[in-house]
Amino acid sequence: MSDRTTGRSAGFATRAIHHGYDPTEAEGAVTPPLHLTSTFAFESAEAGGEIFAGERKGNVYSRVTNPTVDLLERRVADLEGAEAALANASGMGSISALMWTLLSPGDEVIADQTLYGCTFAFLNHGLGKFGVKITHVDLTDPANLERAIGDSTRVVFFETPANPNMRLIDIAAISDIARAHGARTVVDNTYATPVLTRPIEHGADFVVHSATKYLGGHGDLLAGMICGPAEDMAAIRMFGLKDMTGSVLAPFNAMLVLRGLKTLELRMARHSESAMSVARALEAHREVEIVHYPGLESFPQHDLAKRQMADFGGMIAFEVKGGVAAGKAVMNRLKLIHRAVSLGDAETLIQHPASMTHSTYTPEERLDHGISDGLVRISVGLETVEDILDDLMQALEAGSAEKAA
Ligand SMILES: *Cc1c(COP(=O)(O)O)cnc(C)c1O
Repeated sequence: MSDRTTGRSAGFATRAIHHGYDPTEAEGAVTPPLHLTSTFAFESAEAGGEIFAGERKGNVYSRVTNPTVDLLERRVADLEGAEAALANASGMGSISALMWTLLSPGDEVIADQTLYGCTFAFLNHGLGKFGVKITHVDLTDPANLERAIGDSTRVVFFETPANPNMRLIDIAAISDIARAHGARTVVDNTYATPVLTRPIEHGADFVVHSATKYLGGHGDLLAGMICGPAEDMAAIRMFGLKDMTGSVLAPFNAMLVLRGLKTLELRMARHSESAMSVARALEAHREVEIVHYPGLESFPQHDLAKRQMADFGGMIAFEVKGGVAAGKAVMNRLKLIHRAVSLGDAETLIQHPASMTHSTYTPEERLDHGISDGLVRISVGLETVEDILDDLMQALEAGSAEKAA
């Protein structure tokens, strides 16, 4: 989409609000219509046959295409700089539809050490059962991939920043190695969003999202997205989505994600600004052992963060002195901040990965995969930052007072 007067391409926020929609095509409605329909009428029996055969454009059934979902797909593809995108019922729906399409028995997936708990379970307890080999490699050092990659490696999969410990991965370095060996790189971009990082511009083949998080942004739906080459997206639509998972995004939820996208850039700026303040305050607190936030100078991969991210996002992981029990005690003293999983909402949310989102790992696996039992994860919301800080500080101070007493 280009600016009509200057010819330069339109900015991110403009495209997040307008891309792919012209009100004159829908009776002038400024907000795109919601197509609540499961099936579509054919002009004639012959036309229906031609659409099925792919000889004529048209909608058949909302498990394959739906105009509201289609608008969301075109808009997210544009924001990620991808040729095409596919919407799913959840982030897990996206990851499974993509993997079922790309992989066959005998293939290998190389995944980073740290993954969201259900992704870890899908790979190790799911695909592993069907003859796909899963190898975990510490991808924070690309040399490890060079050593591990082989002829049967079909997919290299990672998150950056990773859920929950915030490790970053150099997308360009990893994608280069994968491509040289004929493997496709998949980046879970849920934490960064296309506002902060666009992995395809760094050489990745595919981007997946839990759109449940920042893209939706309001904690009122589940959704997932896959972005990548048009040919692959067509294959995933007709196999991984239509036949293997049936993981279809409802048109109503597509409309809610479209609404969320309109404020994505604004929200990410606020999430990032507030998270920076929270990370600094936590780091300065005597009850806090360690803070993992890419914006901190103390973060081991701060240079990569500055190179690869436009800003540092709304997610922080930290450990309280005294380990798991002390961390849970801090969580229990919070009054404004909700104890809840998920992330990217307007509300600040806090959770304990070892007993919640990452309990799909065994304790030994968590140790191997760098997910410390004392880690607490916070999704910094959009509330007035002083209120978020006050709540966290009173919860930490009460801990010091208890110890002193
Ligand atoms: C939440 C999450 C998922 C799974 O998405 P759902 O929408 O809950 O299915 C995948 N990856 C990451 C990084 C997540 O945070």
